[in-house]
Amino acid sequence: MHSMKNSTHQSSTQRRTLLLLDPYPPNHPYRMTASERRTIWFPKLSLPVIAAHTPPDWDVKLVDEAVQEINFDEPCDLVGLSVMTCYAPRAYEIAAEFRRRGKPVVLGGVHPTYCPDEALRHCDAVVCGEAEDLWPHVIADVEAGTLKPIYRMSDFPSLSNYQRPRIDLLSPDAYMTRLCTFTTRGCHFDCEFCSVSPFNGKTTRRRPVPEVIAEIQHAKEWLRSAIIDRMTRGSVWNALATSLRIWVGIEEGSIVAFVDDLHNSHRAYCRELWQALKSLNIKWGCQATLFLGDDRDMVKLAADSGCVSVFVGMESLLEESLDETNKGFNQVRKFEDQIKMFHDHGIMVNPGIVFGFDNDDESVFEATLNFLIRNHVELAYFNILTPLPGTALFERYTREGRIFDYDWAKYDGKHVVFKPKRMTPEQLQEGFYWANHEFYSLSSIWSRLRHTKGRFIPRLQMNYEFRKLVKRTCPHGRLSPIARILKDLHGKLPTVETSQLIPNALQAIKQNVHPSSQQELFLNIRARQHDMFTALLIELEGTLDQLNAKELLRRISQAAKQANMDIIVNFEHLRQATPGALQTLLDTNMVQRIRPYAKLRYRKLKEAFLSAWQEVVPPDQDLLEEGP
Ligand code: SF4
Repeated sequence: MHSMKNSTHQSSTQRRTLLLLDPYPPNHPYRMTASERRTIWFPKLSLPVIAAHTPPDWDVKLVDEAVQEINFDEPCDLVGLSVMTCYAPRAYEIAAEFRRRGKPVVLGGVHPTYCPDEALRHCDAVVCGEAEDLWPHVIADVEAGTLKPIYRMSDFPSLSNYQRPRIDLLSPDAYMTRLCTFTTRGCHFDCEFCSVSPFNGKTTRRRPVPEVIAEIQHAKEWLRSAIIDRMTRGSVWNALATSLRIWVGIEEGSIVAFVDDLHNSHRAYCRELWQALKSLNIKWGCQATLFLGDDRDMVKLAADSGCVSVFVGMESLLEESLDETNKGFNQVRKFEDQIKMFHDHGIMVNPGIVFGFDNDDESVFEATLNFLIRNHVELAYFNILTPLPGTALFERYTREGRIFDYDWAKYDGKHVVFKPKRMTPEQLQEGFYWANHEFYSLSSIWSRLRHTKGRFIPRLQMNYEFRKLVKRTCPHGRLSPIARILKDLHGKLPTVETSQLIPNALQAIKQNVHPSSQQELFLNIRARQHDMFTALLIELEGTLDQLNAKELLRRISQAAKQANMDIIVNFEHLRQATPGALQTLLDTNMVQRIRPYAKLRYRKLKEAFLSAWQEVVPPDQDLLEEGP
């Protein structure tokens, strides 16, 4: 790369100008105000990275349209845009404007990488993959007048001797912090909806720790002198206000943001990095996995080195949904302890939540909200599942014919573009709105933040700005009456009685299940509206003992009072049950209590447990009808 820099330098005598643009539609409904941006918005690093890899005989200007206006008459020799899928339509508009003015336009980023033919219809060249090694070739070809239509990455760039991202080109006073950097690229996990491992690779590359430390030190000093300069030039009141903001921890640069997608991918590396960070005396935040919270030593080290915030990809509180999206390493039963571990060390937890997995029904919204509020998470980012081009999810939904909207502007995690399995698109959209409003309601903010350890004012301010943003941009959502009924029915109950288990004859035939399998000692209750009848269908899996049977009937009784529709309980997929459980289910007194509200039917109960039927069921038992 350096030899190329020299040759282009020799062949070009005049300085040229590169205009780098981050597109953002000017009338975008989710556009943030200045105070929202300064509190909760980070810049993207892709263009500062490209600027750093541009030969020094080029001048570089950078415009982030989320915070600045584009001057289409800006003198320049080349225009480069980094394009995420949801901003592709705007990027194409911008490209058209510049091309009309005779400027060559190059598009790069995730969307052009996976839709190069589409992108090429709107520009002169497309860069596919990570651009660091390709960019000097693009520049050389522009200088020689031989720009090619496509530049494809042949190998992932090395992260050693990495050029420092040109954060100095970012607009001042526009973001929460410009002190952004990264330590790793790629991810060895492979979540179905995520484009990181397809785009950045399935192995994690890491930057040498001394380089990261030197970069942060340099950036910190640069920003400090910029702030001092601003304080000395402005009024005394401005200087005092800035001092106060620094003291409280809300001035720009109060926090260093590691924007890598998986900061804690390698324990030994993190140990070395976090140990070294101690000398910098900074506060920092990152994106990490929740299971970091299993490791007390590492969480303590992170906190000691200045970590005050982790964004965690929690995604869902349903194990089935996590398994479905290939994120089984998130273990729901550990979430509470993991969150507490961060909180005990003063680290705020910001989960990313995704709604709309195939296992999600309308109950998911309230169940998730209750959990987040109960566990005092300081912020949460809600998203609607989005099949981004390049992901395995996009391929699956395309195969299944479930994508109904290809307007890329809606691929922003805030719109439904596919047919969900267990709710309608409208219910998913409404639930997303509802969750945002509920989470950022005043009562929720108070419940969550009154327990926070440290940095109360910055955390309160972030919630306040999120609340403003939600109120301004999000319609009030509504959940249908069935949502809460489903939430109260669902559950995973531990099975205590494990003697005398009777195997389900239907399951034994199908799967040759060993009746005493240690993994099945729970009862999983899932409910949904029946596809054909006006009824609630309750599916049982796992092992049913007498205690669980009583709890099941209690939940059914509660649902019957609220739902005003028949209830069908399906035993087909239950693995085993105790005689006591079967007797409880058929207890006339208990079942009679449900009768005034709903007709209760048991589906496949008799077939499943025929062998025990005569022993547990009274001969004159005719209370229950077999459900359809
Ligand atoms: S969601 Fe996170 S853990 Fe999963 S593949 Fe993407 S970056 Fe990796």
